Amino acid sequence: MQQTKNTTRVFNFSAGPATLPLVVLEKIQAELLNWHNCGMSVMELSHRSSEFKNIVDESQKNIRELMQIPKNYHVLFLQGGGRSQFAMIPMNILGDFSSAAYVDNGIWSQIAIAEAKIYTNVNVVASGEGSKYKEIPTQKEWRDFSKDAYLYYVDNETVNGIEYQFVPETGDVPLVSDMSSNILSRPFDVSKYGIIFACAQKNLGTAGITMVIIRDDLLNRSVVANTPSMFRFQNHVNDNSLYNTAPTFSWYVVNEVLKWVKAEGGLAALAKHNATKAKKLYDYIDASDFYFNDIDSKFRSRMNVVFRCKTEELDDKFEKQAQLQGLTGLKGHRYVGGLRASIYNAMPQEGIDALLEFMDHFAKSH
Ligand code: PMP
Repeated sequence: MQQTKNTTRVFNFSAGPATLPLVVLEKIQAELLNWHNCGMSVMELSHRSSEFKNIVDESQKNIRELMQIPKNYHVLFLQGGGRSQFAMIPMNILGDFSSAAYVDNGIWSQIAIAEAKIYTNVNVVASGEGSKYKEIPTQKEWRDFSKDAYLYYVDNETVNGIEYQFVPETGDVPLVSDMSSNILSRPFDVSKYGIIFACAQKNLGTAGITMVIIRDDLLNRSVVANTPSMFRFQNHVNDNSLYNTAPTFSWYVVNEVLKWVKAEGGLAALAKHNATKAKKLYDYIDASDFYFNDIDSKFRSRMNVVFRCKTEELDDKFEKQAQLQGLTGLKGHRYVGGLRASIYNAMPQEGIDALLEFMDHFAKSH
């Protein structure tokens, strides 16, 4: 449990919506009724007001600075969650091509592939199915994708607990990356990508907003016929993501999280914290004969640590007892079962220590 000035909080290991930095929550609480002397909450401000424009401008500046985003990229703050991008990307980026390439690394790849198939032929260039998604096929094994509209992959598979340790080389074919569960967790070289997107409810802020970073030349591609206006990237670019009423509160939270990331020392500093947190957990699991994680260490996620006890009954008991100790959200995804500790940027070291102490106690008493 975390003791704050006013309340007791659990350590929340949920995959998303996930834990937010305590200082961000405290700031939101302090300025909720009267934001920056406007006499009203940020939730009540017009999205077209000059006050809200400050949040729009500041968030652009902060994300560009943190991720060192080159000038020829647009940053969009959209609605519709990560999943809307599964459709928006083929609708907007297929252009005159008749297929798009996807790597199948697990659940979120498969859902994106199924959505893309509504619009085009999908060339699945590689799949982790053979290894039960415990490995990411090296690029040497991938099928040719030189004639595809783009190559799409999921940098961190939230459910399966695997993460890329390399950036795919795609030459002239635009690289599209779903970074929903590891954006801002370490530095990424944005110039290698055509599109990066991420829903906010893990590392960026709260649900209701999705960030898309898109290279400007990709906006020249013809859009699939009958694409709704809200699903056209160009409309959002034209209006600086204020095409319609923006998710103002979620946008404000994102900006507060970005300021927190800067105060923590930026992405290099967070990468170090995250590596330390993940190593502590994996080292403990590897040394134990009670808990298991059989993912190749080269591909283990630094954000979502999946593990199991010897039986499903023990997994179940573990999750229920952990909850009583103020360690919540540890149940594995309904598709794969087991246990999962999501340890995004905002999970403090103390949360990892509390989890390890509980794991030790549970193993000894079972
Ligand atoms: N991609 C990944 C990697 C995810 O983990 C998730 C959500 N867990 C999504 C996409 C979908 O995001 P949303 O629920 O915001 O549509």
